[in-house]
Amino acid sequence: MTRPIPVIGQLDEDELQDWLFHLRKHLPDENFQPLQHLNESDKNQVEIAVVANPDPQDLSQLPNLIWVHSVWAGVEKLIEKFSGSELKLVRLIDPALTDTMSEAVLTWSLFIHRRFLDYQTFQQKKDWQPLPYKSAGEANICILGLGQLGQATAKRLLDNGFNVSGWSRSEKQVEGVSCYSGAQGLKQATSEADIIVGLLPSTQDTFHLMDAKFFANCKTGVSVINFGRGSLISDTDLLKALDSKQVNHAVLDVFHQEPLPNDHVYWGHPRVSILPHISAHTQPVTASKVVAKNIREYRQTGMIPPCVDFNKGY
Ligand code: NAP
Repeated sequence: MTRPIPVIGQLDEDELQDWLFHLRKHLPDENFQPLQHLNESDKNQVEIAVVANPDPQDLSQLPNLIWVHSVWAGVEKLIEKFSGSELKLVRLIDPALTDTMSEAVLTWSLFIHRRFLDYQTFQQKKDWQPLPYKSAGEANICILGLGQLGQATAKRLLDNGFNVSGWSRSEKQVEGVSCYSGAQGLKQATSEADIIVGLLPSTQDTFHLMDAKFFANCKTGVSVINFGRGSLISDTDLLKALDSKQVNHAVLDVFHQEPLPNDHVYWGHPRVSILPHISAHTQPVTASKVVAKNIREYRQTGMIPPCVDFNKGY
């Protein structure tokens, strides 16, 4: 039997069995096991682990671990714990997850743009009020973060007729997208936007990027879709901007604290739509294929797939 590959994370028994089933199906010669099934000798042999938001302490039990394949987008806790160490951290890049995210952003962009949120409000007042039609080509959408998810989302929005701008850390060229970077670039990218989409990771640099100053620079009546991380938004400043109508509507899938506490003011806000972190969920059926391919290539060539840069924090 080859060296064991533990599957570690905040998974209930059914989820764990689902992952083990799919991983074993795609790599029948590998020895995938729940961490708790490994004895000390097994743990000493482990060089790869598959993880889903694990307790970082669990990984410390594996002294010869070389790399971990995360199947969750959220790797902040691992970055904090293993920054400066030799451990390599590989994130999941799954085309199915990318499709799901771009589908979610497109859905909400159309819903906002076609003013279906306004019609919901009118319905509550039994108000029959047709609004003027605007085509997608009359709307500007700015995507903050032009990585795997941001670029796929940009393409989907372009394919559906929207004008798209994007902002990233490094300068980019993406066909059809007005690309910006840096502080001045952020102002330019966002100032003409009707909808701003957050698809950035949670880092020191992105913390509360969307604050009072940010909203003040936007067009009055801008809408915000945050599917990246809750830490991108200052909740206090967003609520003020909603109340002053500087921001028209916010669609939030991610929060500083999840689940969103029962007493949070967002729940009852008429111009906030809340989603329970579902805009792009990892599916074991597709994700296990990606993980299997990466592990197979590592076994054959010794190459570890592209890793998280601990210095950049994503
Ligand atoms: P990615 O490929 O690493 O892309 C991240 C993008 O953010 C890159 O374009 C990067 O710029 C940019 N960026 C990072 N820090 C920046 C900064 N300080 N200033 C400007 N741009 C910055 O990540 P991804 O796969 O697209 O995922 C993006 C985020 O979506 C994840 O980190 C995760 O938090 C979130 N997510 C949410 C869900 C959900 O269900 N809600 C699911 C999956 C992922 P460069 O291109 O220059 O490096």
